[in-house]
Amino acid sequence: MNANLMVASNAMDKIIALCKRRGFIYPGSEIYGGLANTYDYGPAGTELLRNIRNLWWNNFVHKRDDIVGLDASVISHQEIWKASGHATGFADAMVDCKNCKLRLRADHLTERSTKKKVEGKILEELEKIIQNSKDLVCPNCGKHDWTEVRRFNLLFPVNLGIVEEDQSLAYLRGETAQGMFINFKNVVDSTRIKLPFGIAQLGKSFRNEVTLGNSVFRTLEFEQGEIEYFFDADKTNWEELFDEWRQTMWNFVVEELGINEKNLQWRVHSDEERSFYSKRTEDLEYKFPFGFKELWGIAYRTDYDLVQHMKFSSKDLSITDPQTGKKIMPHVIEPAVGINRMLLMLLSDSYREEEKRIVLKLHPKLAPYKVAVFPLLANKPELVEKAKKIYKDLRKNFSVVFDDRGNIGKRYYSQDEIGTPFCVTVDFETLENDTVTIRDRDTMRQERTKVNKLVSCFQDKIS
Ligand code: ATP
Repeated sequence: MNANLMVASNAMDKIIALCKRRGFIYPGSEIYGGLANTYDYGPAGTELLRNIRNLWWNNFVHKRDDIVGLDASVISHQEIWKASGHATGFADAMVDCKNCKLRLRADHLTERSTKKKVEGKILEELEKIIQNSKDLVCPNCGKHDWTEVRRFNLLFPVNLGIVEEDQSLAYLRGETAQGMFINFKNVVDSTRIKLPFGIAQLGKSFRNEVTLGNSVFRTLEFEQGEIEYFFDADKTNWEELFDEWRQTMWNFVVEELGINEKNLQWRVHSDEERSFYSKRTEDLEYKFPFGFKELWGIAYRTDYDLVQHMKFSSKDLSITDPQTGKKIMPHVIEPAVGINRMLLMLLSDSYREEEKRIVLKLHPKLAPYKVAVFPLLANKPELVEKAKKIYKDLRKNFSVVFDDRGNIGKRYYSQDEIGTPFCVTVDFETLENDTVTIRDRDTMRQERTKVNKLVSCFQDKIS
């Protein structure tokens, strides 16, 4: 393994270990030996996911008057996926190691040799690169003994109905986007929204993907935050709108999530990589420990999806311009992000190893818990009682944890590892003058504050 790869896998291993140790992410179905490419989120991870989701929703739905929300069904009619092209075209090229049976994405394997994106290359080209590059050995067993490259569809089929003969095929959705297209007319007819406008959705999507680790970066089920932003292509300049959205995405990652700009870059899809219906696609990439990878994609999907659904459903999905009476088939720009990838990005970006501690420097508004409350000594009932009271009061406003295990140093250390920005300690002075110490995660400095000022003090610091 070369030195760079070793550093990367080391960094990733440390983050994965922290995630398990502190309750962010556990391997899926672990007590039964695990289930590849599935993960469960523990108490801290669940809070972090929820905070990311809420921030996204707040920014793109609540704070805007041109975007409305949707929550469509995960199980969906097979015709949706025929119309969208996924039932036939949504496939990865795969190769199997004949020796140890490991299955890999052919483009991922090939990229190790070409060191550049090969997405969009045809099977024969991938096959040629793999067969001719003897250094492309199996990462599991080290042999170069590959099967031919074959395509596998990524959609998960589900069979509906309990009696065999009545079973009918449906799919778990492969993207949330189709929910917005098939409900486009419903939303227009049931709200007062007018073009240009967006429909936003947060929810799980499912893809039968094969990957090589990297935690929750690529999984079988994952949560997407997608917006379909509809506009009249005769009135709105798509290039300007596209650039506006690019800026909005960048600002969200830098200003709201607090990510270091140095770790971000845009990558424009080449003609061969881009889906045939897209006029332009770009990825906002983050520098994960294993390299720059897609975090958030933006595509100009034209009117492709609505036109396809019109064809397949025979329903009129066009809308009428109220001023001119003209029929409009709206075009769409789609910013689509993975919430789980955002979580992994946040963990990577905020992870610091300092002299005596590991600390997650998450923005306070994203931290799983905002405050931890401790009694100085666990065996002094008067301190414990007072600390419990403060904990219960603070809980009305924030997510708070209580800890009375071990010594104060150890408690600080464990809160640092989950990114808790403030620790409140109840000591003997508290019993005399109703003040506590607040210890700041980043500076590690302590200040004394009146108990009745705690809520307003944290409200200021967290927002
Ligand atoms: P990739 O090229 O990485 O497979 P994609 O271009 O197919 O991703 P989109 O269909 O554009 O992805 O989905 C939007 C977002 O959903 C991606 O930017 C990514 O953050 C996330 N995403 C896609 N596939 C997965 C997955 N298998 N696991 C976790 N997140 C995913």
